[in-house]
Amino acid sequence: MDALNPSLQKPLNHLLVKPAGPDCNMSCQYCFYRRKKDFFPQTKIHRMDETVLERMIRELMEQGPKEVSISWQGGEPTLMGLAFFRKAIELEKRYGQGKIVANGLQTNGLLIDRDWTAFLQQYHFLVGLSLDGPDAIHDHYRRGEGGQVSACQVREAAGRLLDAGVAVNALCVVNDFSVRFPEEIYCFFKSLGLIYMQFIPCVEGDPGFRLPTVFSVPPLAYGAFLCRLFDLWIADFSDDRPTTSIRFFESLLFSYAGLSPPECTLLPECGTYLVIEHNGEVFSCDFFVAPEHRLGIIGERPLKDLLNSPKQQSFGHIKSRLPEECLLCRWLTFCRGGCLKDRFSGQDMTGLNYFCRAYKEFFPYADNRFKKLIADRRKKEQGLNLSVKTRAKKIGRNVPCPCGSGRKFKKCCALHSDGITNR
Ligand code: SF4
Ligand code: SF4
Repeated sequence: MDALNPSLQKPLNHLLVKPAGPDCNMSCQYCFYRRKKDFFPQTKIHRMDETVLERMIRELMEQGPKEVSISWQGGEPTLMGLAFFRKAIELEKRYGQGKIVANGLQTNGLLIDRDWTAFLQQYHFLVGLSLDGPDAIHDHYRRGEGGQVSACQVREAAGRLLDAGVAVNALCVVNDFSVRFPEEIYCFFKSLGLIYMQFIPCVEGDPGFRLPTVFSVPPLAYGAFLCRLFDLWIADFSDDRPTTSIRFFESLLFSYAGLSPPECTLLPECGTYLVIEHNGEVFSCDFFVAPEHRLGIIGERPLKDLLNSPKQQSFGHIKSRLPEECLLCRWLTFCRGGCLKDRFSGQDMTGLNYFCRAYKEFFPYADNRFKKLIADRRKKEQGLNLSVKTRAKKIGRNVPCPCGSGRKFKKCCALHSDGITNR
């Protein structure tokens, strides 16, 4: 590896881990990760073994900064069983040596029973629960292999987790069907007590034609969805503070305040974390688990080296290679050309983002109100000088969260910004 000045090296502070690979106990029609089974044809069932688990956790603890996080994702990570996660916690304690470790679990909720709930509560996991909205909306695409519906089970899991005091983030995929129901979905989440929400626009490119698949959300419809959702979010402010949390909007508040947003799609470059598959193979990003974006395998080279490798750096730089329309766009500071995976047009992911028209609808709609929120906040919280440029990279964990929730940053957006971005 080319020697990189240590002061310029990215810290190994976050891993996104897929202990059961692409295996899942559901068969959601729009899931992009199901097809990844083709990359791991050696076995039918994919499970991380203890050797890989131990090595991964040891390296993260040895090479990472004082505060690190792991997002356990899939497929469906609960297929590993509780014993696997108990072992993970034991290893975090063994190698952590006083480090602060945040664990996040992204799940479809089907296996979340009382034992899981007690475990997640005991170890303060942040749970990302996949739920697309009221039953008819959720069950439209989120079904089992035999077509079984799942909404009722997921609602029950949400209730169980919330009753036990587990922090739960509702992960809602916005698809061609659900995009018509922003109000119903938002109010439904609130009625369940799911005030932390993350909306993920669904777009899959047909590999042959690079055209969006039928369940992909049309850009203009998504733009209208965002605008309506924004109104709902703002209408629920109380005493100038949000009472619900919508990750995309809160991330934009960071950008408006001159801070680095927690959502990677709004950053100028990618490549800030690593994905570890069940067999220890390491990839550039959750959306780029593919042979051409394979960085290596656990044990071959230190994870920190893989994060700072020329290959991961080149991957990171792709996002900043923007088409002229972006370079001339007044929303570039906030939009940053969107997520790389949504750049269908043009060659090598340097074309215009599929959702461009959505963003061009949404940004002018929300711009003045974002500015007003920040201006009001600055007036109120004189101690928090959000405009200081030198703070753009790092926010103190004990300062009030820039999203305005009134909680400390470490108890708010820092907690909800650990790479749980998809599905
Ligand atoms: S490709 Fe998208 S999800 Fe991956 S790091 Fe870049 S912006 Fe984030
Ligand atoms: S709104 Fe469209 S043109 Fe403007 S930066 Fe975003 S993707 Fe590029």
